[in-house]
Amino acid sequence: MKKITIAIDGFSSCGKSTMAKDLAREIGYIYIDSGAMYRAVTLFALQNDCFEGEQLDVEKLRELMPEIHISFKLNAQTGRPDTYINKVYVEDKIRTMEVSSRVSIVAAIDFVRTAMVAQQQAMGQEKGIVMDGRDIGTTVFPDAEMKIFLIASPEIRAERRFKELKEKGEEASFEEILQNVKERDYIDSHREVSPLRQAEDAIVLDNSHLTIPEQNAWLLEKYHQIVGE
Ligand code: C5P
Repeated sequence: MKKITIAIDGFSSCGKSTMAKDLAREIGYIYIDSGAMYRAVTLFALQNDCFEGEQLDVEKLRELMPEIHISFKLNAQTGRPDTYINKVYVEDKIRTMEVSSRVSIVAAIDFVRTAMVAQQQAMGQEKGIVMDGRDIGTTVFPDAEMKIFLIASPEIRAERRFKELKEKGEEASFEEILQNVKERDYIDSHREVSPLRQAEDAIVLDNSHLTIPEQNAWLLEKYHQIVGE
């Protein structure tokens, strides 16, 4: 069967990764969470004292970039790929508020994006991939056969994120999360290098009032329409 490339973009905490992961499993494709890669770079920057508070030492990070090797390993229990930096498991550490509040600053840097985009394109060379992020349909895979742009209201997104962090036992206030979601939306949409925007040929889905099974069914139907089955 013909393999295609599937790009899922959208705002922070829209449920892109849930949707992308479930589709990939259903159709036997590789799933890559590109946001995890920017989170991993941010964690590495934190661990190597590139930040003084919110202030990033860009030159220090530039020197460290060649030392950052990001990889994924599928976790059979969660069905999601876990993230590793230099073979060290970091999946939990990259999801904290400490990383979330700094990741958009790191992801706006040109040399960080150049390095990540090159790795993402290499991962997708053989097609048969579902990748989610902010610039997958516009910059990473502009020729992707299937492009989805996911939207939902900031309040609904913050609520979902709040529940997710609470389930993991992480302390966070709803207000803090809502502010973080809005801040990341703003930085991601206004940065100079490949800002978050809808690709012209993307299909838009507002999943504010959809359950996970409903959005998965919608996505699978779109996939079948596109591959013509
Ligand atoms: O998807 P997630 O929210 O985990 O992504 C974390 C951050 O990484 C985003 O807020 C954005 O700043 C950045 N990102 C990006 N380009 C991507 C994926 C994520 O700039 N393709």
